[in-house]
Parts: sequence; structure tokens; C-alpha cells
Amino acid sequence: MVWQIDLSGKCIVVTGGNRGIGLGISRDCAKAGANVAVIYRQSPSAPQVAEDISKEFGIQCKAYQCDVTDAKAVQTTIDAAIKDLGPLGGVVCNAGMQVSRPALEMTKDDYERQMNGNTWGVFTVAQAAAKIWVEQKYKQGRIVFINSMSATIANDGTTQCFYNASKGALTSLARCLAMEWAEHGILVNSLSPGFVDTDMNQGLRDDPERKKYYEKKVMLGRISDVEEQAGLAIFLLSPYASYITGADYIVDGGVTAW
Ligand code: NDP
Repeated sequence: MVWQIDLSGKCIVVTGGNRGIGLGISRDCAKAGANVAVIYRQSPSAPQVAEDISKEFGIQCKAYQCDVTDAKAVQTTIDAAIKDLGPLGGVVCNAGMQVSRPALEMTKDDYERQMNGNTWGVFTVAQAAAKIWVEQKYKQGRIVFINSMSATIANDGTTQCFYNASKGALTSLARCLAMEWAEHGILVNSLSPGFVDTDMNQGLRDDPERKKYYEKKVMLGRISDVEEQAGLAIFLLSPYASYITGADYIVDGGVTAW
């Protein structure tokens, strides 16, 4: 028998699932047979991306415009996704952003935007899903946070102290939600990528010297592609991960182990 992951019959919500790491995860969820709800904030191409995934994998993938920092809109969107795509099996809280400024110049507004975008915007989705599962007495809910190695290290050459702080907060948040929701059968874990080739790292695409500098920090000597991140997310959504909760998995090609 071939060892494979089967997520068919489930709707998986992927925030920021229209591009970058989230798109890799949406595609792998679809490959595993899930229907996929792609939540995006503003990219006009997101509905087409969803349509392409539906066609390529023969499942239903739909895009929903929703700002994850708006808790009410998140609840409404997830309710709509369930109506359209079937029972909720898992959520991947991937959407994130970076506020860059030297720490000496950071303001309270910078702090609030960063924590709102990366920490509150993850919590809203996790909470909306958990409310549904608790009400339905569904005991197999899965929540995956896309965290960062920046939760663990102060990566040099960046001026993103609140980004790192927002990701550090996610590690604790995953543990606390795992603890509180274990009795409901909800598993909460996080995946912490290292350097990944996405729009968020456009600076590395534009500057080969800078890219080389960071590649030297990676044991494997290169930046990751999104598929190399997505695989673990799919595993954490699958029945094979039924005894894993409150954990953080670093997928960084060996940066933090160096
Ligand atoms: P991208 O910048 O490529 O994509 C960000 C995605 O998040 C987009 O789909 C965007 O939607 C969506 N998004 C952002 N804010 C919101 C919001 N408020 N509401 C709804 N959607 C939102 O990011 P990456 O793919 O690079 O990163 C994905 C995650 O991985 C982030 O959490 C990031 O911190 C983390 N990460 C990334 C690393 C990297 O090297 N790239 C390394 C470590 C962690 P839209 O397209 O509509 O703007």
C-alpha cells in the first residue's frame, strides 16, 4: 500500500492561501483531496488562483476576501466557506506581514500594526474555527500557525524587532491554545520557516549579493521553496499527526541549529 495523506471530505481554510507559502499549502491541501478556502486581503488575482487550483486538482477551491484582523468578518467568512465547501477539517493561519524600521525609530503604531497583523490576525481564525468545532462536538480539529525562525533568533541585517516579537508570541499562543482546547480534540501546532522564496523576500530576489550572504547562514546553502514548507503543514493536518499538539517545528535548512 502506498503511504499517502488523504484530506478528502474536509474543508481546509488557508489564510494568505493565494500566494507565497500559503499558496504552496493550498495546492498541497488540494493535492490531498481537500476542498480549500483561500482567504486573502487584497490581491485581485486571488479568485483566479483558486479557480486554477480547482481545475488542476479536481476539488473545490474558493477565494474569500477578508482581513484576518477583523474577527467578525473572519467568523462570517469561515461560516460561508463551510456552507460552500463542506465540514471544516482544519485551518492554516499563514497570513502575515512585516513592519521594518530601526528599533530606535519604532512607534506604538508600528507595534500595533505588527502585532495586530501577525498575532491577533492568527488568533481570530483559530478562535473562529475552535468555536465551530466545540459547538459541533467535532473532536479532530487541526490548527497550524505559520510562525518563523524569527521567533527563535534575532536575524541580522533586518530591522524588524516587532516582527520577531509577533512570531515569538505565536509560539506561546500555540502552546496555550493547545492546552485549553485539548479537551475538545483540537490540536494546535506551529511551523517555523527559515528563508523562503516569496514576495516577502523580494529584497533577496532583487539583490543577489544579499541573497548569497543569507544563503551562507543556511546549512543546506540555499533558500527554501514554498513546497518544502507546505509538506509539514499537510502532515500536521493529517491523521498521522494525531498525537502532536503544542509543538513548533522549525523548517529552516539548519539556520537555527548552526
Ligand atoms: P507573502 O507576503 O508572500 O504573502 C502574504 C499573504 O498573506 C498574502 O496572501 C496576503 O494577502 C495575506 N495577508 C497578509 N495580511 C493579511 C490580512 N490582514 N488578512 C488577510 N490576508 C492577509 O508572505 P509569505 O508567503 O512569505 O509568508 C507567509 C507566512 O510565512 C507569514 O506569516 C510570514 O511571516 C511567514 N514566514 C515567511 C518567511 C519567508 O521567508 N517568506 C519566513 C518565515 C515565516 P494579499 O495577497 O491579498 O495581500
